[in-house]
Amino acid sequence: MGDLLGVTVTPVQPYAATKEYLCPGCELTVPPGTFHLVVVPDEAPDLRRHWHHGGGQKGMRRQFGAAQASRR
Ligand SMILES: [Zn+2]
Repeated sequence: MGDLLGVTVTPVQPYAATKEYLCPGCELTVPPGTFHLVVVPDEAPDLRRHWHHGGGQKGMRRQFGAAQASRR
């Protein structure tokens, strides 16, 4: 994921996942207690998203890549 510029990806351990989230990559829920990733755009910390581990890299690149391209 080194080519994702301007995005901070943080792993969330199962014990730290206490809520249910909606993964924007596959539009399925990330259940509590699931290891997953938090993706935070550096320029827009409010837009943090919770992704399933490993499954959403293409979607991540599409979503955040497009957002960045439109800013430049
Ligand atoms: Zn997902």
